[in-house]
Amino acid sequence: MDSSPTQTPRKKLEAWLRYYEDLNLGAFYTDRRAMGKRSTKSVAAGAPAALPAAAPAAQPTMKPAVASVPPTPKAAPPASVLPVANAPSLFEAVDRVENDTLERIREDLGECTRCRLSKQRNKIVFGQGNPRAELVFVGEGPGHDEDVQGLAFVGRAGKLLTQMIEAMGFTREQVYICNVVKCRPPENRKPEDDEVATCSPYLYRQLDVIKPKAVVCLGATAAQALLKTKDSISRYRGQWFDYRNTKLLVTYHPAYLLRNPNAKGDVWKDLQKVMAHLGLKAKKASR
Ligand code: URA
Repeated sequence: MDSSPTQTPRKKLEAWLRYYEDLNLGAFYTDRRAMGKRSTKSVAAGAPAALPAAAPAAQPTMKPAVASVPPTPKAAPPASVLPVANAPSLFEAVDRVENDTLERIREDLGECTRCRLSKQRNKIVFGQGNPRAELVFVGEGPGHDEDVQGLAFVGRAGKLLTQMIEAMGFTREQVYICNVVKCRPPENRKPEDDEVATCSPYLYRQLDVIKPKAVVCLGATAAQALLKTKDSISRYRGQWFDYRNTKLLVTYHPAYLLRNPNAKGDVWKDLQKVMAHLGLKAKKASR
């Protein structure tokens, strides 16, 4: 799509509309003349991100500090003629799979060999728990125990996660637990960017199907994969973000807590925010 700065606003708008049509999104924009007195403010607040920042990309880029606000378009049409989405945003429409299910995602993943992590893995760790969970925990990737059992968070860090979940008033079976990458990285190293990029579409689909009320990212890898940032976890830990129709909060990974027990207080504060969002009350501490 040509949106060069030398184009007239009308030409730019035409180019955007052609671009949407090319993507088969149909006429999801609204003729503002037919909208009566709907104010720009309510449109902006009610509508999902209507306009991408730039030419097509597989996923939106999202700065944590402005997670609910789409990036400013570089060469956007004038505000008075911005297309207003009454349907999912451009990016959401593109990467959502219709009638998706967890079973279908697992089938699509198959005995995956899409990245080098497949070479040394024992079992794929897809994720487990309640397919209709209100709360989803997302970790980094399987470790040794997970690789052996094919289940997420069943090792030492998993035991601590279980305690965290139970302290919130849930059982493990009531929530959903999964990872950014589904195969164990050798020596438990951090997954590489290309491995995350290859595997994370399956995670996005899992979250789209489950539609939880809250997603808790455990550690920087999960946060960076979902928020599309390279910023350090200290910049956004404990804050709420809008994420694809749900809320997302980042806290420390349980493996970090095993090494730094002093950070448990911060994590508990984070989890209490999640509980408040879900309408849960903290149990009174027993004396
Ligand atoms: N660490 C993770 O990030 N995920 C697991 O499943 C286990 C440990």
